[in-house]
Amino acid sequence: MDKVMLITGASRGIGAATARLAAQRGYRLLLNYRSRADLAARLVEEIAAAGGQAEAVQADIADEAEVLRLFEALDRRHGRLDVLVNNAGMLEKQMRVEQMDAARLQRVLATNLIGTFLCCREAVKRMSTRHGGRGGAIVNLSSMAARLGAPDEYVDYAAAKGAVDSLTLGLAREVADEGIRVNAVRPGLIDTEIHASGGEPGRIQRLQGSVPLRRGGTPEEVAEAILWLASEQSSYCTGSFIDVSGGR
Ligand code: NDP
Repeated sequence: MDKVMLITGASRGIGAATARLAAQRGYRLLLNYRSRADLAARLVEEIAAAGGQAEAVQADIADEAEVLRLFEALDRRHGRLDVLVNNAGMLEKQMRVEQMDAARLQRVLATNLIGTFLCCREAVKRMSTRHGGRGGAIVNLSSMAARLGAPDEYVDYAAAKGAVDSLTLGLAREVADEGIRVNAVRPGLIDTEIHASGGEPGRIQRLQGSVPLRRGGTPEEVAEAILWLASEQSSYCTGSFIDVSGGR
């Protein structure tokens, strides 16, 4: 396969699991990360040792100039884009809405929403048949938080992911006849470091009893859904959502 996939936030967690699975399926990969150059470099080596092809590019997707630099690197190295996985995401310490200041809200929206928007924009410019492209697939990482609201934890993050759902629906319909499918995955409680960054490393243990499947999920289980939405196997899906949340 000569298909090129760009995954944002691929140094660890769901992004890294998606990169490993995509490499096994034969995609050529451009792996973005923000700060963990060590982990990104190790992942690139691991993929190469297994016979895959991947390169890592540092860029903070919250910064428009860095998004442009990331896509310029893609143009230089591959000259095409078949799949964009908008995986980069973050949250901040758990707190109630009345404690949140504007600076926090701006940071949370900048990565989770605006960064996703900017990467979609650059992907559409390259994929759309309207701009001479060959079409492609975009997979956004939303969250069950978009539906549940994340009260007492991070309503700001949940709101950003709710907006990612609207972006997914609107963009899917906007570019449907230009060869681009846009879908999203809504993970539930997945075992990554994101919970520690919210100040509660044991969050999954606390909440897993409320999950119908009675456990947290793995990054690999989310990667399977992402790869399906990226593939031709999902050719009649656009503006669709897969909840990978154990029934929560
Ligand atoms: P992690 O915290 O484990 O990893 C986050 C990744 O995103 C890292 O590679 C990090 O890079 C990167 N990143 C964060 N901010 C930026 C930025 N501004 N620019 C570029 N890269 C950035 O998160 P998960 O793997 O858990 O989450 C992946 C996605 O899934 C996110 O969108 C998240 O919101 C979503 N999700 C996760 C759930 C979960 O339970 N884990 C549940 C629902 C949704 P670096 O390490 O280099 O800083």
